[in-house]
Amino acid sequence: MQIIQAPSPNFNDRRFPLDMLVLHYTGMGTSESALKRMCDEDAQVSAHYMVDEYGRIFQLVAEDKRAWHAGVSVWQGDEDLNSRSIGIEIANGGHNVPTPDGGLPPYPPQQIEAVITLCQAILERHDIPQTRVVGHSDIAPDRKDDPGEHFPWQLLSDAGVGLWPDAVDPASVEGEGLSPGATGPMVSRLQQSLTIIGYGIDDTGTYDDRTEAVVRAFQRRWNQRHVTGEADLLTMALIDRVALLAANLAIAFE
Ligand SMILES: [Zn+2]
Repeated sequence: MQIIQAPSPNFNDRRFPLDMLVLHYTGMGTSESALKRMCDEDAQVSAHYMVDEYGRIFQLVAEDKRAWHAGVSVWQGDEDLNSRSIGIEIANGGHNVPTPDGGLPPYPPQQIEAVITLCQAILERHDIPQTRVVGHSDIAPDRKDDPGEHFPWQLLSDAGVGLWPDAVDPASVEGEGLSPGATGPMVSRLQQSLTIIGYGIDDTGTYDDRTEAVVRAFQRRWNQRHVTGEADLLTMALIDRVALLAANLAIAFE
């Protein structure tokens, strides 16, 4: 794996051990402009790596340093995720730079191949549980949409990078879904399952704005054709499956 050095001045010392991997898209028109911004001292942003459209990997910050990519964020009860994570920016315009027909710009295969190779190497080097491989939208659901519902998380998981649940047969799910404004024990149960996965959400028993944002973040990752913020039956079944995977891994680590 060839790595091109592109040092950024935007880093400081970690305050916690490294045990997370956070994936982003740049949300900019070109990888050159993204790289320039992350190396600009005034911008106060960076990541450890950037992978461009051609699959070239740039290293901006050393892995033992704290890069500035996560912002205000929470996962599995932890904050200051910059101190705990390696951040990878993937060059893609995302929701900010849609295609002429209004769609999301695809991630080229050579780029995804490079992202997978880089992530595998990072997971080999560091003790990062699969439950702590996340997207920016997972850890900051109110603020962030990246790497987006067009990012091929399932391919990454097939390569050993992140969790992916077994498919749910839509014909097998029964009962009612939950919508914003709903209240009661079913909403509490949903919030508890999302907490087990790692999302920063309280058990309020009310399908509030935060719940809607977190469900939408879940869908961007694990039910990508149905990003609505509504907990339809398929989404609820998938939330249960991912929560079970996460809970089993947590037991295995104890
Ligand atoms: Zn991001």
